[in-house]
Amino acid sequence: MNTHPTGADHPADAARYADADAARYADATRAVRAGLPEPVKNEPTLPGPVFAAHFHLPGEVSGPYTYGRDTNPTWTLLERAIGELEAPGQDGVDTVVFASGMAAVSAVLLSQARTGDTVVLPDDGYQALPLVREQLQEYGIHVRTAPTAEDAQLAALDGARLLWIETPSNPGLDVCDVRRLVAAAHAGGTLVAVDNTLATPLGQRPLELGADFSVASGTKGLTGHGDLLLGYVVCRDPALAAGIRRWRKVVGAIPGPMEAWLAHRSLATIQLRAERQWGNALAVAEALAHRSEVTGLRYPGLPSDPSHKTAARQMSGFGSVVSFTLPDRAYAERFMSALRLVEDATSFGGVRSTAERRGRWGGDAVPEGFIRFSAGAEDPGDLVADVLRALDSAGSGG
Ligand code: PLP
Repeated sequence: MNTHPTGADHPADAARYADADAARYADATRAVRAGLPEPVKNEPTLPGPVFAAHFHLPGEVSGPYTYGRDTNPTWTLLERAIGELEAPGQDGVDTVVFASGMAAVSAVLLSQARTGDTVVLPDDGYQALPLVREQLQEYGIHVRTAPTAEDAQLAALDGARLLWIETPSNPGLDVCDVRRLVAAAHAGGTLVAVDNTLATPLGQRPLELGADFSVASGTKGLTGHGDLLLGYVVCRDPALAAGIRRWRKVVGAIPGPMEAWLAHRSLATIQLRAERQWGNALAVAEALAHRSEVTGLRYPGLPSDPSHKTAARQMSGFGSVVSFTLPDRAYAERFMSALRLVEDATSFGGVRSTAERRGRWGGDAVPEGFIRFSAGAEDPGDLVADVLRALDSAGSGG
């Protein structure tokens, strides 16, 4: 007998299931309830992780759970939860979780593009995109690139199979007009995928803006504790979704049940975390705006930011990441080592503030003194004071 936690006939049905009330709830309500199964007497509200490589399967092969690389009840609930946040109340939305954000990114690009196709990528996106570009080119797929700002990708769309958008972009925090790009892309038969990592589904809903795929690293703000890697793809077209599921099965880039369960547990607090972290990001950005040693300050939530107008039209929150430039590498290093509440670490979106001198990796076209700062959930006064004190310390030679 199948013991599917949602009572649906097949996991994909469960992933597509949308709580009829989800659309009318506020984000906080939706977040704490997202993906929960119907209550069953004496069962936990959120069933624990199901650790299984295989499931009992006597006789004829039938679903929903057969083999652990194909399906797992813990993924089913998480997929349903993410789908409810990305596309509240919408029927037919299918979510597929992956072992990491890059597994999700690769699943879309490599399952959709064929030899001879053209793919359009941003040239200022996540630093692994150039590696993806090389891989696509090795398969005979043509790649065009253009910056995110001012919708420059519009000029590269002609005849493309897929447009990849990253907005806000990491680390430059430029924003493009998703609706405008989608309209132009769809007019020419081009599919559109949006990397929604930085905004999270609370800050931006790409499917509602018309995109075919919303793709993200769940490693960052979605789960927010810096303790797991996860990725996901959400789409509405069953044929596209089937291609993504098939890719996951073939490549086997699956999340472990423990990570999937931890992610689901973390989703309950996403609205609380986002509210505090986004508020802290704005407070840090506002404080930095008054500092003469800071140049190139970017935060889409700052009314003076070049991205703000477009961001405000399509986002409901502006994320936890702020970027800015200090006079030189040594200055930036002094700043980093003077911080006490902010960890020097890559990644972003976690409850503990992190920052890094991005140039230490190479690969991003950023100045030596460029800092990518991710605001955590600390008290805003404490956090801003720490940043200002570290700036003073860096300015006085450390
Ligand atoms: N997309 C963006 C915008 C990212 O910043 C990252 C990672 O930093 C990824 C995708 C890849 O995610 P992961 O590290 O979970 O593979």
